[in-house]
Amino acid sequence: MIQVGVNGYGTIGKRVADAIRAQPDMAVAGVAKTSPNFEAKVALERGYPLYAVDGERTDAFAEAGFDLTGTVDELVAESDVVVDATPAGIGAANADLYREHDTPAIFQGGEDPDVAEVSFNARASYEAARGADTVRVVSCNTTGLSRLFAPLTEEYGIEKARVTLVRRGGDPGQTDRGPINDTLPDPVEIPSHHGPDLNTVFPDLDVDTMGMKVPATLMHTHSVNVTLASEADAESVRALLEAESRLFVLPPELDIDGAGKLKEFAQDAGRPRGDCWENCVWGDSITVEGRDLYLFQAIHQEADVVPENVDAVRAVADTADREESTTLTEDALGLDG
Ligand code: NAD
Repeated sequence: MIQVGVNGYGTIGKRVADAIRAQPDMAVAGVAKTSPNFEAKVALERGYPLYAVDGERTDAFAEAGFDLTGTVDELVAESDVVVDATPAGIGAANADLYREHDTPAIFQGGEDPDVAEVSFNARASYEAARGADTVRVVSCNTTGLSRLFAPLTEEYGIEKARVTLVRRGGDPGQTDRGPINDTLPDPVEIPSHHGPDLNTVFPDLDVDTMGMKVPATLMHTHSVNVTLASEADAESVRALLEAESRLFVLPPELDIDGAGKLKEFAQDAGRPRGDCWENCVWGDSITVEGRDLYLFQAIHQEADVVPENVDAVRAVADTADREESTTLTEDALGLDG
């Protein structure tokens, strides 16, 4: 059993902990939190040993009636691998802690690429991460685009990709985010940071990205145009994408017009927290004009990086190859496209 510590138990950390626990070859060594809030309560109810990040704040946990197992230093010492799911920028500050304990660490997409040896996407860069001491699971958007561009690159080659990312203003719990009544170019600069981030996974990819932010919390939506390097037609592209386990090509008969119905579908299907771990590609949007491919996809920002973190654990522990790991992950989660 790979003992996995989760440092930072928020939107991503709590989902990763549950996904780790579902794996046959992994166990949650514990989760570390800064504050004794509702997520700490649920962590204890789920049976995760709770560790305080700041030793001076242990009293606050005691006053709230939350039993602590120890401090984050002890959690890192006891873990074979740590998943750092702290807010952007804090992961880099934690890197020394992991290094001191010689514990391999998985960082998240909010960190700069140089926090880790490898920018990780299970479909595109698993093998490069095997046995690494540090990897960074790329952001939700970069994960979604990596999953799409990997098979397109292999099958047709990509001459040039252009993506407009219509981004949710904040996650549902982020009451301090916005906009609440506007449509913002964000960032205004072109390309947005997503293109260069994609190049950390696909160094040779010619891609331009533009970002926007809108008053929505549920998902991001990508408008994608790819000039393929060789001839294709919509049917063959669709078949290629349908064969990818982490791409869900939405058939028209489901009558899903947006993120609201996607989340509803996931909830009705019994997905934990209504999570969509896969990219959701509108099948009817897959269009090819000459060598130009067009499509829309939705990305559930809270969820798509979760299976990637699980695979990253096996990659750094070097206990499985890509095929074995992704199959194990998907079987354990019930991720069946
Ligand atoms: P979050 O704010 O929901 O959760 C972070 C958790 O870490 C919170 O519980 C916070 O209290 C805790 N924390 C704060 N300081 C800490 C510290 N020093 N040590 C340990 N824990 C600490 O953030 P999130 O959305 O889960 O994001 C985590 C990382 O994942 C970021 O790098 C982010 O960019 C990335 N990410 C987020 C999303 C998303 O849409 N939410 C998607 C993909 C990647």
